[in-house]
Amino acid sequence: AAARGRLADVLARPAHASAHTLAAVGHAHIDSAWLWPVRETVRKCARTFTNMTTLAQEYPELVFACSSAQQYAWMRERHPEVFARMKKAAEDGTWVPVGGMWVEADGNLPGGEAMARQLVHGRRFFAEEFGVEQKGVWLPDSFGYTAAYPQLARLAGAEWFLTQKLSWNETNKLPHHTFHWEGIDGTRIFTHLPPVDSYNASLTATELAHAETNFEDKGVSTRSLVPFGYGDGGGGPSRSMLEKARRLRDLEGSPKVAIEAPDAFFAAARAERTELPVWRGELYLENHRGTYTSQARTKRGNRRSEALLREAELWAATAAIRVGAPYPYERLEALWQRVLLHQFHDILPGTSIAWVHQQAEREYGEIRDELETLIADATGRLPRADGALLNAGPYARREVAVVSDAELPGAQRLSDGRGAVLAEVGALSSGDTVSTPRQAVTAAADDGGFVLDNGVLGVVVDRRGLLTSVHDHAAGREAIAPGSVGNLLQLHPDDPNLWSAWNLDSYYRDTVRDLDEAESVTLVDDGPLLASVRVERAFGASRIVQHIELTAESRQVTVRTDIDWQERDTVLKTAWPLDVHAERESAEIQFGHVQRPTHENTSWDAARFELWAHRWVHVGERHWGAALLNDSTYGHDVRRDTRADGGTTTTVRLSLLRSPHSPDPQADRGRHRFSYALVAGAGIEEAIAGGYALNLPLRPAPVEAAALVSLDTDDIVVESVKLADDRSGDVVVRLYEACGGAVGAARLTAGFALGAAYDCDLLERPGERPAVSEEGVVTLKFRPFQIRTLRLRPTMPPSQGETR
Ligand SMILES: [Zn+2]
Repeated sequence: AAARGRLADVLARPAHASAHTLAAVGHAHIDSAWLWPVRETVRKCARTFTNMTTLAQEYPELVFACSSAQQYAWMRERHPEVFARMKKAAEDGTWVPVGGMWVEADGNLPGGEAMARQLVHGRRFFAEEFGVEQKGVWLPDSFGYTAAYPQLARLAGAEWFLTQKLSWNETNKLPHHTFHWEGIDGTRIFTHLPPVDSYNASLTATELAHAETNFEDKGVSTRSLVPFGYGDGGGGPSRSMLEKARRLRDLEGSPKVAIEAPDAFFAAARAERTELPVWRGELYLENHRGTYTSQARTKRGNRRSEALLREAELWAATAAIRVGAPYPYERLEALWQRVLLHQFHDILPGTSIAWVHQQAEREYGEIRDELETLIADATGRLPRADGALLNAGPYARREVAVVSDAELPGAQRLSDGRGAVLAEVGALSSGDTVSTPRQAVTAAADDGGFVLDNGVLGVVVDRRGLLTSVHDHAAGREAIAPGSVGNLLQLHPDDPNLWSAWNLDSYYRDTVRDLDEAESVTLVDDGPLLASVRVERAFGASRIVQHIELTAESRQVTVRTDIDWQERDTVLKTAWPLDVHAERESAEIQFGHVQRPTHENTSWDAARFELWAHRWVHVGERHWGAALLNDSTYGHDVRRDTRADGGTTTTVRLSLLRSPHSPDPQADRGRHRFSYALVAGAGIEEAIAGGYALNLPLRPAPVEAAALVSLDTDDIVVESVKLADDRSGDVVVRLYEACGGAVGAARLTAGFALGAAYDCDLLERPGERPAVSEEGVVTLKFRPFQIRTLRLRPTMPPSQGETR
């Protein structure tokens, strides 16, 4: 009491009139899995949420901001008494749902449609359960943020974006904490990075002083946000933190601390600036670069699930419109939510304990089986057409497909008992096999290796199983740089100083072992549709079998890989030194692509020594380029060298596997199967088409499916076709401009009697009505990389309901 008396005078002195103002937001970062399994997170949520609703009764000024609709859904299902308390607290104003996503997902790796659905499922849950429109995206802890985010967030109704993870940058510091963030299409979103550099602050004097001095925008802005409360495994604000907040409300020498909701902070911070600096492009995290590759089976499960969800929605919508088949709304919603959960920022990045990843792999197996069942149910309703194949991809294709039935007319029987057929199939529809290729692919022995040639490309696999030549006949160009070999597998020691599963340290490049010896190199298939060379290698305790394939009429060399990986603290890359002078790489992201320099002029360029991409990476010069496609990996690097002959070698290396020792000591050990491919002589258009094709192989199904929508330009890509979530029977189509150029008039034709069309936001809420011609054509304008969602109303709605 004596001490309080002595301090009373000090504590009564007010802050300076110009003192920095900190918006303190109560928070408990709860990782949906990490060093504990998902099931423990449910208990963590119940404990934290109960504590917070209790604490709010003692401290009615508390504002507790809580993200992740998934965590709310767990409470609704398993702890309804806790959920009721949360709703009551929300009515009282002490509880604020925030973030508007299903989980705090990884910010790089989720596919375009999946990232849209994170926002849709999150926002819809909070609107339905709490009656609130989410105004922001709250992602304090994800490992970098895609340049697709500003547009996606705005299309979902968000006005602001928050993260603090960029404070973990190892090399460069972002020049602003409060700015407009501009995405690839030009959309901007008001963004704040809390200068306190923590999402688990406890309102100590040190933290507050750091926030104030660290704030890059002082002088023009007076406000920043502080998320406070124990976090990672939950916890939230404590009594002592709230007492500190009371004393620091207005105290001489300290920033002012005001407890408030994120929306209030963002409105006030926005209002005090008329002009804001702009950060253009991705928010690349200069840290945790191993997360593009760790736990490859989890990543593959995610990629396969995304592809199968696309197929299941497309064929179910097709069957509903064509033959009135019931559309499986509830099963698709449940499957989506399982996939969205596993995109959480410690699961998909591969940074959780073994338990979590084993469970994820099991889940992905179940998800695959259920989606295959839905696809079979839907396609089984369609009219029969023997020998047909389905193309769920956005482009018409003429390519060799591998089918289980080697007896199909025109099939080449493969060495593994399956068949290869040449098929010609329109986009989003079924098609047929074609009897003969324009030119067959041939294979001939050559000095212990083999030469494959299909008239488009000539490919030489030498006695070491390495590609010494990939010749583009029409262009008269060699893809592989002089003195180099393609598909060179390289091992590097990969034991970072910190954060084993997270980090790839730059010095990993200092030591390398080339896998340039093969146990065997054999020709297993020799045309006329498919030629394949099998290469087997052993190293350490690991074995790898690769099939290097060339098919008729194709400019793609595909490498199908089956590996038993037993290395520790090692990264495996495949190197493709290309004879191309590329100033930059183009890499696929959600709904478009980004370009990144291939040089290291600045510290920002040098820090990007490991990159992520979705299905393809492209490097090129005027008139000629090449793409590397993948069906399940994300990490890669690109570097450039000037040769003695004056030419430039641009080397693209895909990161195939890592083997970190923590937090899962057995991470990535065991069997992996995946494919990647070189497309020689590819532009961006071919890279996009190849990426979709490799991830959506033609599906043999003896049925006839006419496309529900078609477009007159390949620049516009259909990302999703489904029935509307409101069960009205409307067909929802999500499209985007994929090549980076405006399209003045793309003509979309409905494959059914079209009554009306509506422009929508991501949540399928209808807005303007574009005109529909008598022939069912909607003419659409796109800016570069613009995403549009259309709701197409058939004149006759399909029947409604659910198959069980
Ligand atoms: Zn986290």
